[in-house]
Amino acid sequence: MKIGTPKELYPGEARVAMTPDSAVQLQKLGYACLIESGAGSAAGFSDEDYRAAGVTVVEDPAILFASADVIAKVRPPVAGEVDRLSPEKTLVSFFYPAQNPDLLEQAKNRGATVVAMDMVPRISRAQKMDALSSMANIAGYRAVIEAGNNFGRFFTGQVTAAGKVPPAKVLVIGAGVAGLAAIGVATSLGAQTYAFDVRPEVAEQIESMGAEFVYLDFDGGVQDGATTGGYAAPSSPEFREKQLAKFRELAPQMDIVITTALIPGRDAPKLWLADMVAAMKPGSVVVDLAAERGGNCDLTVPDQRIVSENGVIVIGYTDFPSRMAAQSSTLYATNIRHMMTDLTPAKDGTIVHNMEDDVIRGATVTHQGAITYPPPPPKIQ
Ligand code: NAD
Repeated sequence: MKIGTPKELYPGEARVAMTPDSAVQLQKLGYACLIESGAGSAAGFSDEDYRAAGVTVVEDPAILFASADVIAKVRPPVAGEVDRLSPEKTLVSFFYPAQNPDLLEQAKNRGATVVAMDMVPRISRAQKMDALSSMANIAGYRAVIEAGNNFGRFFTGQVTAAGKVPPAKVLVIGAGVAGLAAIGVATSLGAQTYAFDVRPEVAEQIESMGAEFVYLDFDGGVQDGATTGGYAAPSSPEFREKQLAKFRELAPQMDIVITTALIPGRDAPKLWLADMVAAMKPGSVVVDLAAERGGNCDLTVPDQRIVSENGVIVIGYTDFPSRMAAQSSTLYATNIRHMMTDLTPAKDGTIVHNMEDDVIRGATVTHQGAITYPPPPPKIQ
């Protein structure tokens, strides 16, 4: 069978789903690899690099879609791409079936099999295919880099002949994959880092990375802002009030706030309110990684960098992984390659779509002319 990767059509998307290195591994699984000319250029991979890795470079995307049995992509297909799918083809890409019901219907109508990389179950065995975590890790890293690029001071404290410089104070709200990555970068740059999450079990991870966990005062109680099965759930009004009061207390002291708080299946909770931005010092920076889901900060405008009336910079970019396209393409292409490994048990270039396998079943959202989303809960953990 052939695996083909087209150039991403989403405006500004610089990532690519196949790299020369991943193509070598895919060929070891028995696949022939195709790439659209220029598909890797924004991520630093030239057509020549692909040819050297044994990949056939195709000029016309229509020919690529027609010849490939498996289409590996980053973004969900756009109009025109989905029309090129057919019953014998498998699409492997981010798909977000809950947010894209029409697209799901179209893919089903085309009879294609769709493996959604965002639906890979988050169980230990599937970590190597967990593209959401790969991308969240990069987003967290890049959030700190963007913050630093907009912040007019050092992260680390210094004692110099010209005077003493205090370390920057960084608050990370939400310590999932992206938040923990942000904490790691901020502390390694020398900032004094604080972090908050509704899940008390992350306190240890936060502290082990050199940051201070922000506790809330409850009468002898444990800080648990509502979690279900290890995931965050909306907090009670009482918890939220305490949380906001704590943030109000911290706002004037913080130089950089990185917000990453998300609740599965919901809009992002509003946590860094307008009055908190107003209480920050001029030149402070807020980076809102939840911008795509409505933002954690009242002032966030998706895809924009704005400056508040009191001179606080609020960044709502939604393309952090694409801003590090070489790194994100490398990790994403590796996640895809691992998915293909599981789909190719005999390493003979032939997909065996085993719907009894929890990981494959969980990620498959259309198959054999039917919608297979949502999947049943995984049997193994
Ligand atoms: P996410 O992006 O959905 O959310 C980010 C963080 O925001 C979470 O830590 C959440 O608790 C927090 N949050 C939600 N509401 C908040 C609020 N009001 N205030 C502060 N913080 C708030 O999270 P994620 O990075 O996708 O991870 C979600 C869960 O999945 C975590 O439990 C994580 O450990 C787990 N996970 C497991 C695996 C695996 O086992 N393979 C891989 C990745 C993540």
